[in-house]
Amino acid sequence: MAQAANINGNAYTIVDHTFDVVIVGAGGAGLRATVGCSQAGLRTACITKVFPTRSHTVAAQGGISASLGNMGPDDWRWHMYDTVKGSDWLGDQDAIEYLCRNAPAAVYELEHWGVPFSRTDEGKIYQRPFGGMTTNYGKGTAQRTCAAADRTGHAILHTLYGQAVRNQTNFFIEYFALDLMMNDEGRCIGVVALNQSTGEIHRFRAHMTILATGGYGRAYFSATSAHTCTGDGNAMVLRAGLPLQDMEFVQFHPTGIYGAGCLITEGARGEGGYLTNSEGERFMERYAPSAKDLASRDVVSRAMTMEIRAGRGVGKNKDHIYLHLDHLDPKILHERLPGISESAKIFAGVDVTKEPIPVLPTVHYNMGGIPTNYHGEVLTLKNGNPDTVVPGLMALGEAACVSVHGANRLGSNSLIDLVVFGRAAGLRCAEILTPNEKHSDLPKDADALALSRLDRFRYANGSTPTAELRLEMQKTMQNNCAVFRTGEVLEEGKQLIHKVWNGASDIKVTDRSLIWNTDLIETLEFDNLIGQAVVTMESAANRPESRGAHAREDFPDRNDKDWMKHTLSWLDDTSHKVTIDYRPVHTYTMSNEIQYIEPKARVY
Ligand SMILES: Cc1cc2nc3c(=O)[nH]c(=O)nc-3n(C[C@H](O)[C@H](O)[C@H](O)COP(=O)(O)OP(=O)(O)OC[C@H]3O[C@@H](n4cnc5c(N)ncnc54)[C@H](O)[C@@H]3O)c2cc1C
Repeated sequence: MAQAANINGNAYTIVDHTFDVVIVGAGGAGLRATVGCSQAGLRTACITKVFPTRSHTVAAQGGISASLGNMGPDDWRWHMYDTVKGSDWLGDQDAIEYLCRNAPAAVYELEHWGVPFSRTDEGKIYQRPFGGMTTNYGKGTAQRTCAAADRTGHAILHTLYGQAVRNQTNFFIEYFALDLMMNDEGRCIGVVALNQSTGEIHRFRAHMTILATGGYGRAYFSATSAHTCTGDGNAMVLRAGLPLQDMEFVQFHPTGIYGAGCLITEGARGEGGYLTNSEGERFMERYAPSAKDLASRDVVSRAMTMEIRAGRGVGKNKDHIYLHLDHLDPKILHERLPGISESAKIFAGVDVTKEPIPVLPTVHYNMGGIPTNYHGEVLTLKNGNPDTVVPGLMALGEAACVSVHGANRLGSNSLIDLVVFGRAAGLRCAEILTPNEKHSDLPKDADALALSRLDRFRYANGSTPTAELRLEMQKTMQNNCAVFRTGEVLEEGKQLIHKVWNGASDIKVTDRSLIWNTDLIETLEFDNLIGQAVVTMESAANRPESRGAHAREDFPDRNDKDWMKHTLSWLDDTSHKVTIDYRPVHTYTMSNEIQYIEPKARVY
């Protein structure tokens, strides 16, 4: 039933819903959780700002990791070892065990639901080598990444959407979630969203709200992620007074197409591609003698940056690197890498069978996000306990920090994270919720945060266009919080990013409409991004060591004694103050089938 609300004299139409579970996000993580909750008989709604199959998961190329052992011996314990090492010992080992142990079943489930994986001659799921994936605890090269050519995410997302429709999920498509509804006891009781096609405000009441809103790559200037990757769920969590975790760990993918930023999958190197500098040298042999071009992403991105700095970059300005596929059989390229052959043609004008692709490290993935346990339940620090569960709230996928990726994610470990923890969240909801349980009355001001913020930006009448502030933010992040960092550069970055944030008080939104108003939506997204940019910069400035993707030139070594701990960061939207604290890494496993993996030097 629609009702009216009045904010600062402006009228809003309010529509109320009640569900058992509300999931924000229809990427791989959101859809997998949606299917699980619906199957458990829970009344489930899935809200998404874009059509489900347009979520960024659709763009995932190279594949999904699981120790199926279809192309040689494999073991989930080896996968676990690689993931812990890849994380540079910042990952929580109980969660990593859960991920790797459950990965094969999750992939077979996708196969049975209809994902058209590429096949071996015997008809098994095809698996390719990927960076940092080894056999026998680092001794050999594993073929662990299950692929549907180079369009794996596309295949998975369409299949999951089909399953969600089949299980009678209630979709709310092109609804933009604004803020969480929290009650006085700190329980999440739902979410407020704007229906972009009618301009109505919808209040979704739920016993469990699940954020699966993806990463915030668009805080940077050059990113492989879609324009919609603005980390809206992360920002909602910050505004609810809850912390984000490990935000300083931002992954740069070695091979974004120079200039355009579009991704060339690591699978290209998995199929035999290699990098060269201006001297035609395969320089990765110097930096990672065993794994070479298939070393972990942070290692390859740093090596490329060092080559460019040493004057050995390619091109007119010596500012990028070449990726060669021209030595590979054109038949293989056509069969296994058709998508990237097309991208290279369109975005770099290159025929991959004849010429190298110009590439540059490009922002690709956020290891940080909303802290959760391996059930997907959101955690916060309360009365000294950093593992306190926030009732009524879960987070999944790239928005979450479980933490299985720690300081650096291995390629193909995100898609598996989406489905393993998406499934875990569904199981947890089935365990702790009863279908159709009654809701208590909605507190009077439950939507106040969402509506006052919407109203503030809708009528923002300053003089700086959102696009200008966004560009300033993106350039600051790209310049001051990049592949290599120093205390000095980060301190300057802090000043600059706060300046952009302060500048937002003068923001100008030209269109007052609530219907298909891209200026308003982009402003809400910018406001979401800037908070995350600020905590990313401050968390980075606060960590004087190098670990995974966080490489400090002034502190080149990993310092396990003082810094093997997760960063927690809170943001005060009014005073613009950041608070930072830490929580210990889980240095224990779930079962006695594998021991805690002790830290050691990380060489490839
Ligand atoms: C180009 C590219 C290639 C990749 N290739 C691989 C690969 O081969 N293997 C691998 O493991 N990983 C890969 N990754 C990483 C992986 O694809 C992503 O981490 C993962 O798909 C994220 O999934 P997600 O479900 O968390 O979020 P997304 O797929 O990003 O979906 C986010 C969802 O949230 C919704 N949403 C967001 N904000 C709001 C809001 N305010 N209101 C309502 N809805 C909202 C969106 O509509 C969308 O449905 C790749 C990433 C990129 C960018």
